[in-house]
This record gives sequence, C-alpha cells and structure tokens, in this order.
Amino acid sequence: MQPDTHVYLDYAATTPLDHRVRAAMEPYFSDLFGNPSSLHFAGQKAEAAVERSRQTVADILGCTPDEIIFTSGGTESDNLALRGAALAAARQRGADRILISPVEHHAVLKTAEDLAEHFGFRLEMLPVDSFGRVDPDDVRKRLAPSTAVVSVIYGNNEIGTINRVAEIGRACRENSTPFHTDAVQAAAHLPLPVERLTVDLMSLGGHKLYGPKGIGVLYRRAGVPLHAVSTGGSQEGGLRAGTHSVPLIVGFAEAFRLAQDEAARRLDGTDLRDLLLAHIPESAPEILVTGHPQERLPNHASFVVRNLDGNQLVAALDRAGFATSTGSACKTGDPEPSDVITALGLTRDWSLGSLRVTLGRPTQRVDVESFVEAFPRIVEAVRALGRTAR
Ligand SMILES: *Cc1c(COP(=O)(O)O)cnc(C)c1O
Repeated sequence: MQPDTHVYLDYAATTPLDHRVRAAMEPYFSDLFGNPSSLHFAGQKAEAAVERSRQTVADILGCTPDEIIFTSGGTESDNLALRGAALAAARQRGADRILISPVEHHAVLKTAEDLAEHFGFRLEMLPVDSFGRVDPDDVRKRLAPSTAVVSVIYGNNEIGTINRVAEIGRACRENSTPFHTDAVQAAAHLPLPVERLTVDLMSLGGHKLYGPKGIGVLYRRAGVPLHAVSTGGSQEGGLRAGTHSVPLIVGFAEAFRLAQDEAARRLDGTDLRDLLLAHIPESAPEILVTGHPQERLPNHASFVVRNLDGNQLVAALDRAGFATSTGSACKTGDPEPSDVITALGLTRDWSLGSLRVTLGRPTQRVDVESFVEAFPRIVEAVRALGRTAR
C-alpha cells in the first residue's frame, strides 16, 4: 500500500537545493562559462565569481580568502585535511601518529585507517563518553611530538552530539599539533569563527546546507603544513588541482551565507526536535535517545530501539511515508551496529536498532506530529515480525 503523503525527515543525509542558491548559480552554467584560469575576458569574469565566493566564505569564518580551499565535497575536504596534514608532518618532522575520535564520519575514519594500513602511520582512538563526546583533557594527555594530526568531529552526523571543539583545539595549539574538525553537519546550524574554535583545518560540504552536491570547502589556517593530495594545475594554492566548478563554488558561497544567516536568527526548529526527543522514547517500550540530550545539533534526533533491526524499522517507516535513516549498515543480511553507536558502549541488543530523524527548513509541525503518532504502531509491527522470525 502506498502512503498518502511522503514526509522527508532525513536532512542529515542531504538537503534540497535552495531556489535562491539555484538562481545565483544559473548564469555560470552557460553565459558565464569561462575557465577562471584563462587570461581573457571570459576567464576573468569566472575568476571574479570564484574570488567573490571565496571572500564570502572567508568573511563568515573570520579568516582570509587564501585560507579557503574549494573541493568536491565534505569527503574530499576530510581526505585533504588528514592525508595532507599527516604526510606533511611525516616529511617535515617525522611524526607518525594520528589521533581521532571513534565517532568520526567514515570520510575521516576510513582515511585514517588507510593512512595506518598503507602509509606507515599509527592510528590512536580517543575515548568518548556515553554521549559521544571527547574530553579535551584526554586529547591533552595523548598529544606527543610524534602526533601528526588530530581530528574530532564538530556536530555528529549519526547522533547529533556537539563536541567542545574550541577546548580541544586549544590543547592541540599549545602542543603545536594540527587540529582538524569535520564541521559538515555543524555548518548549517552553528557559528564557525575559526579563531575562537582554534581549528587549523575544517571541512564543510555544500549539500548538507541547502547548496549543491559535489562542492565543499577546506579551511586551512595560513602556514599549517599540507601536502597536496591531487596534483596538476596550480589552482587553490597548488593544494587542489583541477578546473574550478564555478557554478558549484558560487552555489556553495550563497548557500553557506543563507544558512549561517538563518542560524544566527535561530530559525532552526529546535522546538520540533525537542518534541521528538520527548515523545519518541515514551511512545513505545525500550527506546533510548542517543547522543547528548541538549548539546546536540538543533535539527537532530536519534534513538536506539531494543531488540529490533534498525534497517527493518527504517524500511517500515518508509512504507508508511516517512524517510528516516539508521546508523547501522546492513551487510548481506548480517546487520552490524555502526562504529559510532558501538563507541557509545551500548550492548548489541540495543545498538542494532538505531534510528535517526533529522529536520529541515521545509519541515512542518504537522509532519513531526504525524510521525510521533504513527511511530508506536510501526515499532510494534516490526517487533512482531522479529518475534515470528526468531
Ligand atoms: C555528509 C558528510 C560528509 C561527506 O560529505 P560529502 O559532501 O557528502 O562528501 C562528511 N562528514 C560529515 C559529518 C557528513 O555529514
């Protein structure tokens, strides 16, 4: 049976392109098609658009334009930050340790694992508390001259928890160790003053903040050593070769500007998120909130449901017309809890049943209310299925 309505509640996975952003991008697909690296008038117009965009992003972060590197997205920004900083630190000072949290996005975790497996680095995991937060003192204790780079996520994509990035950054700065934060989720909701956050490297992505897919930014504080990951032309200070995608760069800057403006005016829908955090756990037996109850992204609610397969729950919710997601990746019928949920210390009977519900600009109160109303019946149906299967 097809549901009557479809309610999208998965804005942490991606967001729709804002129509204002689309309008700003439009001319750069056709009329203003020049290559910013060309010397002639067509190239100059394209270059001016790229540099205006770079200035816009720099103004928001409180940095200089030459500290902004345009990439193809959050994943590439994370790769350039970790690979670039690790390889430069190895070459310049023989550092061989990488320190990350166990609740990183795979773009950071898999990159760090690759550096450990194939490039001679030692990977060390910071502890996290039951909310998925890193204690800045633990970072301070583990820092050593051999630490090449530290990476701790700002706003968590799976559990919403916000890390104390500024304090972690200060610990790293005191030890002259480059500090990277993945702010891809945070960028749509939290101010990102790089000086106050004490970050050396920070990743942003366009499609998580109502911008286009395929575009991101890496903030790199001036002077922080970085080894280029892609080589070729001299674009982006020689750190990211390849012809600029002018429309995507223009779109990123406009989307970021609008998102930060809305966040500053607190149009973030915290009240609807709190409605979910309050009502979902009491709507059926054995449901817990994951991540921090308050120190979390304003659009983000996440849960674990005991003795239930999160993938089955997400599928059942989808059949009922609600788009949500789970943290656990299902490997050919053998579901494994995600690394993030596992790091919270939950036992397997809880950790397999993770659910993420994330709100966005188009979300209405009635969408959330209808979700809360439908939820207990759907959980019970999935549980009943599980009982007959067992
Ligand atoms: C989505 C996401 C990424 C990857 O960004 P893409 O632009 O999709 O490559 C990295 N980190 C976090 C926290 C994310 O949510």
